[in-house]
Amino acid sequence: MNVTVDKESGFCFGVQRAIEKAEKLLEEHEKLHCLGDIVHNQAEMQRLSDKGLISTDKENLKNLRSQQVLFRAHGEPPESYRITGENKLTLTDATCPIVRKLQERVRKAWASVKSQNGQIVIYGNPDHPEIIGLQGQTGNGAIIVKNPTGLSGIDPGRPVELFSQTTKSTVEFRSLERNLRELMKEHHQNSEIPLKVHNTICGQISRRTPLIKKFARSNDVIVFVGGTQSSNAKVLFLHCKATNPRSWFVSMPDEVEKEWFRDASSAGVCGATSTPLWLMEKVAARIRELTEIKP
Ligand code: SF4
Repeated sequence: MNVTVDKESGFCFGVQRAIEKAEKLLEEHEKLHCLGDIVHNQAEMQRLSDKGLISTDKENLKNLRSQQVLFRAHGEPPESYRITGENKLTLTDATCPIVRKLQERVRKAWASVKSQNGQIVIYGNPDHPEIIGLQGQTGNGAIIVKNPTGLSGIDPGRPVELFSQTTKSTVEFRSLERNLRELMKEHHQNSEIPLKVHNTICGQISRRTPLIKKFARSNDVIVFVGGTQSSNAKVLFLHCKATNPRSWFVSMPDEVEKEWFRDASSAGVCGATSTPLWLMEKVAARIRELTEIKP
């Protein structure tokens, strides 16, 4: 059977950059504390932890003194910078430049909407680190909307500036925008709807959707490799599944099952922006092993 690893899958530029910074620091220091998981992928986390990377949380950060600390690509709220400064920690900030720019835009928008009695709405997962970092730019004043219909926290009579977490689906973001416009229309019948929309979904994510659908169409079976915590993995896997019903999600090579490939002549291995290439290659090797015709 023909097994192909998708050339377009794997780390996005922001995650790649953060991992390179961590690996460089680990050549010079025995250990490095990273605030949160550097990437939402357990296998890659294990590889880096073997080199000395320690995932830490905000509470532990408060107890560290004079240590090497890394902020990952997702970005952090101002409070995290305050703690590293107060505790004299040596900080390497690997916040993705795209996320940093988004933080600046949200901060500026918050300063401007406050004077107009307006609201900042962000489409995203409230527990996602990027959203926590963005919320910090508004002193936790932004309204986080988890799904396109969950608009109950928004006052439709007041102005809104709408943003998105960088890893969300463009289709869902547009659907949320339509629903919100509809809701606000009733309150602004004789005037322009005061809704300003910033599509802040990362190009590295939106470009992957059509590419992964094409890949899913061109293989009999798809094995998608991703971490169960990765929001990008969930979105991309759903696209694979909708395009090719014979799509399977795995986190590790030993989760692959032989029956998935019955009567198939091709299998494609792809993954999220948090999936390392070496792991996709291991999964591909496992598929070849399982489907090999023994003499
Ligand atoms: S998905 Fe885009 S914004 Fe998010 S870390 Fe990767 S490159 Fe940066």
